[in-house]
Amino acid sequence: MNQPAIRVRFAPSPTGYLHIGGARTALFNYLYARSMGGTYLLRIEDTDTERSSQEMIEQILDSLSWLGLLPDEPYVLQSDNILAHQHAVDTLLNEDKAYRCFCTKEDLEAEKEKAARENRPYRYSGKCRNLTDQEIRENLDQKMPFTVRLKVPHEGVTRFKDMVFKSIEVQNSEIDDFIIMRSDKTPVYQLAVVVDDTLMGITHVIRGEDHLSNTPKQIHLYLALGYPVPRFAHVPLILAPDGKRLSKRHGATSVGEFRDMGFLPEGFINGLIHLGWGTSGNQTIYTLDELIRTFRITDVSKKGAIFDLQKMIWI
Ligand code: GLU
Repeated sequence: MNQPAIRVRFAPSPTGYLHIGGARTALFNYLYARSMGGTYLLRIEDTDTERSSQEMIEQILDSLSWLGLLPDEPYVLQSDNILAHQHAVDTLLNEDKAYRCFCTKEDLEAEKEKAARENRPYRYSGKCRNLTDQEIRENLDQKMPFTVRLKVPHEGVTRFKDMVFKSIEVQNSEIDDFIIMRSDKTPVYQLAVVVDDTLMGITHVIRGEDHLSNTPKQIHLYLALGYPVPRFAHVPLILAPDGKRLSKRHGATSVGEFRDMGFLPEGFINGLIHLGWGTSGNQTIYTLDELIRTFRITDVSKKGAIFDLQKMIWI
């Protein structure tokens, strides 16, 4: 059977500048696409309207352009797909794969407090999963606000082979009936990302390790929607030399700051590539063409990568 052509994407949220972690994710996606004859795409995830801004979209594009990592096709704006997100939710509701949850904030708080008192991890009780048609109709007639939750099977295991983290297994009983649409009808990240990646024909999702725990939920969504499940590669967290997750308090973290310090893009890329990737050879400095020839996603390590400005390469 023919494999579909490889398509990958970098999907930043325009809520801040492009930082080292994002730039490294973009670079790994770019190198994977180039080394496999695939296509590298960009999606701006701007559905958090309060925190997203046009200025940040421009800053991200500017930083990607400086790095030579602009996408192969015009970028996709997540907010342009909102009708497709809503359509997917309607489909799941019609097929009884999702349900309306009329629980109030107070109801959910009370459930959480009870779980804390009983010293057990919190999971939504599933109270609204079994409402009768009549109860649902009455609530809708009374204009009760509702979120939509996915019906996650209680039994079984979700398994996937991550290209970096290898075999991942999660008991379905540990996955909540998570919310896919808020009461204001805006989609949550989990749903938007699955619909958008499918619309863009993404075959391989390469992103930060912080999304590893989202993947089993997204796999449930792919299956419920009948969409093909892409392959996943999660790249390790970036740590500061003190072993803590790299943050602003460790100094410069955004691409723009490095440019202002006088780095050249080639030098910055050589610093980024060593954050989690390496081969057994001695080479430390690579041209982009050499990286394209050498890069294998399976050579990315799952160990947290330490970023040390002192070791950045000034070329
Ligand atoms: N927008 C998400 C972020 O900036 C990335 C989502 C993804 O790659 O699936 O963390």
